[in-house]
Amino acid sequence: MDAIAVYDNGDAPELIDVPRPTPASEEALIRVLRAGIDGTDHEVIAGEHGVSPDDDDYLVLGHEAVGVVEDPNGTELTAGETVVPMVRRPPGAENEYFQRDEPDMAPTGQYHERGIVGAHGYMCEYFTSRPEYLVSVPETVAQYGFLIEPVSITEKALEHALAARAAFEWTPESALVLGNGSLGLLTLAMLDQSGFDRTYCLGRRDRPDPTIDIIESLGATYVDSRETPVDRVADGYEPMDLVFEATGHAPHAFETVEALAPNGVGALVGVPSSHEFEIDGGTLHEELVLHNKALVGTVNSGRTHFEHAVETLESLPEWFLDDLVTDVVGVDAFERAFSADDHTIKTAVEF
Ligand code: NDP
Ligand code: ZN
Repeated sequence: MDAIAVYDNGDAPELIDVPRPTPASEEALIRVLRAGIDGTDHEVIAGEHGVSPDDDDYLVLGHEAVGVVEDPNGTELTAGETVVPMVRRPPGAENEYFQRDEPDMAPTGQYHERGIVGAHGYMCEYFTSRPEYLVSVPETVAQYGFLIEPVSITEKALEHALAARAAFEWTPESALVLGNGSLGLLTLAMLDQSGFDRTYCLGRRDRPDPTIDIIESLGATYVDSRETPVDRVADGYEPMDLVFEATGHAPHAFETVEALAPNGVGALVGVPSSHEFEIDGGTLHEELVLHNKALVGTVNSGRTHFEHAVETLESLPEWFLDDLVTDVVGVDAFERAFSADDHTIKTAVEF
């Protein structure tokens, strides 16, 4: 069957032929409809992140997918049911994090991530999975079902950020998303739906730009980081109750503290690589303490986040999803889905 993979010594995705998998006992066979591509895939392709399975010198890409059950193989699933796979799997025997249904809280070494770390992904015609790692979704969301995984990332990040403000009366009104990539824009649309009065999104692009059009169509304000760096946003616009970091630019994590209003919280999801720079640690420390600010880092997501993400996806405006997903390509044209020009926001490969 067709699969899109990156070899350990390669620097570009390739279309390869691999055997169609046979489900083991207690596993179902899933036929992939679509698999999405995000910043993480580009990092895996560039060799900055990710590991191939032990026995192979390549990794089948894809951690954002939607598919249909081809063969339930004796599991409780039904043939033809639409499903979205979760990303993490136990690296061998199930450990306590998987037993508690909190795979997203497992430390490094205690999980594999399909399509990223130690296990093949979903960018192929068929994959097998135990049913506990599949989330059933209505057929109506199948078209954009590959967005459920990235939405679930933000569901988790917001849950953890809000939990850090749960000890007191907190009524956030302003929110700033750092990054106008696909995750940043999805998050902006979600914050818009969840009742923030004023939303902002920071990027570093000139107009005209399709991401700026989306930001403004959502009713949010575009902040150009070249004119207003993150640590000047509070003065240039307003102090933010919530900041959501989705650029992976390491200084932003710390500048977020300056951008926050008293009692505010910063959710950090961007994944940087090594980056040395100077910061005033004393001022940073003082800001956090004297103004009750919090920074929360989060990665991956669990079943409840996927389940909430299904509802969230259904609530997002159709025009937004149509504008966000700039290309869905067939396997024959898969390379186009990995191109990264200024018109590309979110792409997927269709099988
Ligand atoms: P993208 O690479 O598509 O988006 C990143 C965006 O940030 C781009 O639009 C880029 O702008 C912008 N950006 C980068 N640096 C700056 C800067 N200095 N000032 C202003 N804007 C900047 O990635 P995704 O949207 O897919 O993901 C966002 C981040 O989240 C990535 O780091 C990714 O690895 C991470 N991630 C983390 C997850 C988790 O579980 N924690 C899950 C999924 C993703 P431009 O395009 O103009 O360069
Ligand atoms: Zn992703």
